[in-house]
Amino acid sequence: MSKISDNLVYVEQRIREACERSGRQRDEVTLIAVSKTKPVPDLAEALRCGYDVFGENKVQEIRDKSPMLPASVHWHMIGHLQANKVKYLIGTVDMIHSVDNQKLAEEIEKQAAKHDVIMDVLCEVNMAGEESKFGLTPEETPAFVREIAALPHLRIRGLMTIAPYTEDPESNRVYFRGLRELKERINAAGIPGVAMDILSMGMTGDYEVAIEEGATFVRVGTGIFGERNYNI
Ligand SMILES: *Cc1c(COP(=O)(O)O)cnc(C)c1O
Repeated sequence: MSKISDNLVYVEQRIREACERSGRQRDEVTLIAVSKTKPVPDLAEALRCGYDVFGENKVQEIRDKSPMLPASVHWHMIGHLQANKVKYLIGTVDMIHSVDNQKLAEEIEKQAAKHDVIMDVLCEVNMAGEESKFGLTPEETPAFVREIAALPHLRIRGLMTIAPYTEDPESNRVYFRGLRELKERINAAGIPGVAMDILSMGMTGDYEVAIEEGATFVRVGTGIFGERNYNI
């Protein structure tokens, strides 16, 4: 067995146990294999193990890799996105996790309309208020959702957050719980066309805690593919 398949067995087991602990079904949680910087054979390995949802944070990498894998593969854009690159993603990715400004939302609307598709998006929220991170503040998120809900070719499926890097996953529980509560609050506000069901939260260091707090997408990179080398 390869390292990647061993890792997937391990991650799968931990996802199952987190679901059991929190009274959830395994199929409520989708594992997004975060394949940024990793070569196509690594993705093909994960695919052979039955995992066909990949997360990337650069438009160029999605453009390079997607033609080399079966069309049935699901791609998620999880990284910061510039409006001028949206046109390359429509029709290729299932979902954009990083919508956090009006200009980006309007460009997604424009490109989706051009292709006559509805684009599923998540709003990125900076729960911990970290300076280094993109995303809306929790306070401004409801008004932002209300603004972009009017765009007919955008479907707001939920919220995404990147929690702080930490050695202690328990310290991120407050942010995961906060994101779930924010989602519930926005749903309760009865904004026309808004019924969010997705929470994209939890990475290699903290996905079990995120599942316990209601994650429906966990984004795991290092835990599946190993450390990334940005210098190659
Ligand atoms: C890289 C990345 C991940 C995966 O991080 P790991 O710690 O390697 O699991 C998840 N989400 C986003 C947005 C990322 O950029």
